[in-house]
This record gives sequence, C-alpha cells and structure tokens, in this order.
Amino acid sequence: MTHHAETEKVLQVVDGITDEIVEFAADLVRIPTVNPPGALYEVCAHTIGERLKSFGFSVNYVAAEGLPEHSPTHPRVNVIGSRAGSVSRPLLHLNGHFDVVPPGYGWTLDPFGGIVRDGRLYGRGSADMKAGLAAAIYAAEAVRRAGVELRGTIEVSGTVDEESGGMAGVAWLAQKGLISSNKTDYVIIPEPLNVDCVCVGHRGVYWFDITTYGRVAHGSMPFLGINAIDQMNKVLNAIREELVPELATRITDMPVIPSQARYATINTNTIEGGQANQLMQTPCVADRCSVIFDRRFLPEEEFENVRGEVEELLKRLSIRTPDLRYDLQDRLIVQPMRTPEMSPVVVAVRDGVRSVLDREATLVASPGTYDHKHVTNIGGVTDCIAYGPGALHLAHQPDEWCGIDDLVASTKVLALSILKLVA
Ligand SMILES: [Zn+2]
Repeated sequence: MTHHAETEKVLQVVDGITDEIVEFAADLVRIPTVNPPGALYEVCAHTIGERLKSFGFSVNYVAAEGLPEHSPTHPRVNVIGSRAGSVSRPLLHLNGHFDVVPPGYGWTLDPFGGIVRDGRLYGRGSADMKAGLAAAIYAAEAVRRAGVELRGTIEVSGTVDEESGGMAGVAWLAQKGLISSNKTDYVIIPEPLNVDCVCVGHRGVYWFDITTYGRVAHGSMPFLGINAIDQMNKVLNAIREELVPELATRITDMPVIPSQARYATINTNTIEGGQANQLMQTPCVADRCSVIFDRRFLPEEEFENVRGEVEELLKRLSIRTPDLRYDLQDRLIVQPMRTPEMSPVVVAVRDGVRSVLDREATLVASPGTYDHKHVTNIGGVTDCIAYGPGALHLAHQPDEWCGIDDLVASTKVLALSILKLVA
C-alpha cells in the first residue's frame, strides 16, 4: 500500500470500530481503580492485558515488588504489551495510567457506571484517562486491522499510581529498564489535554513541609503556652503577603494552559495542628502544626532560588517573631520538562492532528506534572509528549466525561502517529 492508501485505510478502520472503542473505554471506567488506596489494579491490568493479547501483543505484568505501597490488599500491578515489527526499532511506547482519583461529591450519575449518553462517556476516569488508554490500544489495533506491516515496535502500557506520584507505575517500569533510552525511542501519554493540543512538558514542582513548634499548656490558660497553630498563622500570612505577590509577577514563555498557570504559583495543600480532629478533644495549647505546600516553578526559575526564597522568608519572619520555632523540609522536587518542538514525536502528532481535525495543533504545557517526568528523568527518553482525548478542565471534577468524538479523533491521530513513527 502507498502511504496515502494506508492512511485512508487506517482512518476507515477506526470509523468502523467506534462502538468497540467506546465499549472498551466504558468497561475500564466500570472498574473503580480509585487511588488512594489503589483499588482493583490487578483486575484492571488484566482487563487491559487480555485485550492487548487478543490484539497480537505479548503481554507482561510487572508488579512493584518491594515498594511499601505494593501490598497484598492493594497490589501495584502494571501491564505492558509489546508487538514487534520486522526490525524492532524505532520503538514507540504508548502509556496510560489506569488509577483514578476518588469520585468526591456532586455527581448526578453513577461515577463508575460507564454511562454513554448524548455522545459522551461519563464517569470517574473517563477523561483522566481511560478513554486515552482505549485510544492507544485501538490506535495500535486499527493499524493491524488495516493490514499495515510495521518496521518498528509498538508498546502499550497501563500503569498505576500516576495520581499519587507514579513511583510504582511508570517510574517502576523506567527503573526496570522497560521504558529506557536503550530501547525506547518515543513515548506518547494520552492524558486529557484537549484533542487538538500537543503537550510538550510541565512546570517544576517543589513540595515542602513547614512545621512550627509551640509549648503545650492547659487550653484554659493559653497565655502559659505558645500555640503552634498561631505561629503557623504568621507563616501563612507572610507567604500570602510577601511571596504570593512576587510569584504573580513571574511568567514563563512555555505555553502552559490554562494561561493563569503560566505564572509561578503556591498552594497550601494540607494543614495539621494540635490534636487530631477525629479524636476526643482535651484542652491543650497546640504544640505542633505542619503545613504541606505545593510550589510550582517555571523553567526560568532555578530550583535553588525557589527553595532559597522560602528560607529567606522564614528568616525574615523569625527576626520579627522571636519565639518562632520551625523547620523546613523538602518533600518532592521535580524539575520542569520540555520536549523540543522539532522532536519527531511532536511533528508526527501535529501532522496527525492536521490530517484528522483539519487544523493546526496548539503546543501546550501542562499545569501539573504527569508521568513524563519519570520517562525522562529515570528512563532517559527525551522524545515524550502527552496527547489524548478529553478536556483538561474536566479531570478530577464531578460528572467527568469524555466526548466520543474526541475519543475517535484521538484514536485516529495516534494511529497516524504510529504509521509515521513506526511503519
Ligand atoms: Zn491523568
């Protein structure tokens, strides 16, 4: 077949199997792989693995043996399918996480019903990112059903724990050499970043803990102690008054969406102080308070300066507040990621978007990180992008949904990308 004939045939095949793609995505939504705690991972990995096997992949299950989160009640099981062509390289790896965040409140329909209605698949994980997984699997299958012989190799993996950092998921596969620059040329992660957008990376992340220490005393005589929660209040005020306005002046030239996320930001993620609130309370001045902060930094900011700025702020505050006792601890540092625009994987997917949707893809960067960081930092693969169905703003929301038209279009774009990169 000529390249043109192959393209036409593959697009026809996808149109012919739309119902099958939607049904498989709905089947995945019906498995409530909620994280935390990481429920039903094994069931979901096998559902994906069986499908890959029936599509001619050789399939391996990779458990994160030895990690503390891999437990008998909640095993961390990943699945990876591989289908080699005549010369095995180049190798394109399509990766999707199958864990989903808890449904939360505010749903008007069953979050795990896999309901298809009015051209949408509804449910927790429909957009983020079980539709993306279905698109990846069926893109590879469409190429096969079209009768196209591949030169290189396609891999499809379904992985765990992306929502909680991915250490037992993509990071684990990368550590085991299963996603590695020694074998892997390109990675596409079909996260929901809008069907006409190609995502080339993300901002950096600095999670840190600040703990303030007080002195315990009877709650009826607070003047005899030092309240660590009140001390933390001073820290929070200093961050709001001194750091937040400064961050709001810094903007990256990376195309982060939504546009407000092009600025440096900080979020107070968790606060815990005094006695645990689910316990019976006894009157005490809180002698300890901890806050976890989530600071997102720009490629234009150096990490050392990002941390230094927090240290300086705390030093200034303790000069004004002599009884302030605190410590600062790093929790997580992720450097910003940025795949070059001229990377073959970026070019292939942009070409695919142009053919399928008849418009130019927008290059974007994600406001949050995703498994790209492990692919590059641990696996050493630099040609990595995210591209997949579903709208970014619906991820983690009540009544999450993914448009069937998006699901079909992204399956086509991924199939054409396979032709371009692997055939
Ligand atoms: Zn996701």
